[in-house]
Amino acid sequence: MQPVHSMELPRRVIVGNNLLRLVGEACRSLGFSEKGLVISGPRTRSTAAEAVLDSLSDAGFDVEELIVPEPTVHWVEAAERKIKESKPQVVLGVGGGKIIDVTKLSSAKSQVQFISIPTAASHDGIASPQASLKGLEKPLSVGAQAPMAIIADISVIAGSPYRLTASGCGDIMAKYTAVKDWWLSHQLQNEYYGDYAANLALMSARLVSKNADLIHENSQQGVRIVVEALISCGVAMSIAGSSRPCSGSEHLFSHALNMIAPDRALHGERCGVGTIMMAYLHKLKWKMVRDVLRKVGAPTTAEELHVSPQDVVEALAMAHKIRPQRYTILGEKGLSKDAAHRLAKNTGVI
Ligand SMILES: [Zn+2]
Repeated sequence: MQPVHSMELPRRVIVGNNLLRLVGEACRSLGFSEKGLVISGPRTRSTAAEAVLDSLSDAGFDVEELIVPEPTVHWVEAAERKIKESKPQVVLGVGGGKIIDVTKLSSAKSQVQFISIPTAASHDGIASPQASLKGLEKPLSVGAQAPMAIIADISVIAGSPYRLTASGCGDIMAKYTAVKDWWLSHQLQNEYYGDYAANLALMSARLVSKNADLIHENSQQGVRIVVEALISCGVAMSIAGSSRPCSGSEHLFSHALNMIAPDRALHGERCGVGTIMMAYLHKLKWKMVRDVLRKVGAPTTAEELHVSPQDVVEALAMAHKIRPQRYTILGEKGLSKDAAHRLAKNTGVI
């Protein structure tokens, strides 16, 4: 008998320009009419959240807000308290991936729906049901809930620093190796594997590969490709019911590196470099991965990640221990230090 598989998907995805003033209307059309809570960060408050607050008020909403200065577990708890107190029908997260993660976790814990309004295209958390934050027991993502809607204003996202968009490309290129790892685990460990989710994630990676030059121009057209690819990745995770199609050995490397040398680079930047090396192990086209990352202006070396060669070797040797239940090309024993050194050398990362 086929096992039961259930999916939680966003109900509406709106991508376009100057959308923030339409948020109130969009909320009404989703069936909300009374009370909303807007969560933003100190910077996104003025660049985007203000417009969202105005739009909600104009649409007749009673609206409250919370500004989150630091995306930590402490602030997730503060957001939960705020939700309990103001009892919104819907919570809107306006900001980069971290603000969205705080909104996602706090709303999920409070069993209130949330809407994702990203102001940057730095990783696929803007559309995924998973969240990852500092202060959680593990440096990995945890299940929260999928956004009920995503409103991605390209004009706002295109105004964010280009480095964030390039980092988003690194997170998208990771799908080449994540899907391979997932397939391997299916073959070796009989883990559930979904072709549809796998192909959706791969399609995003292919789109970014094909349009690397356009993306580097930082035109609205290029930014839109990255945003739509990130949303597809989030939906792929919703369909799979886990982060499997989007996170494999390259993410394990990224998490390990961030434990060894914290906050030297962005999530997607580390994942991109991890993808080059894991693609080598999978006998995928690792040079193509490297060239795409170079074209979009994302890091491809230890130096560009601001870490030492030793950090990279250690992260490679430790990556398999980060999430032992997630089977990948690294196997149960991982890489020896010698093999890790050789891998990083052969791919030009060190
Ligand atoms: Zn990621």
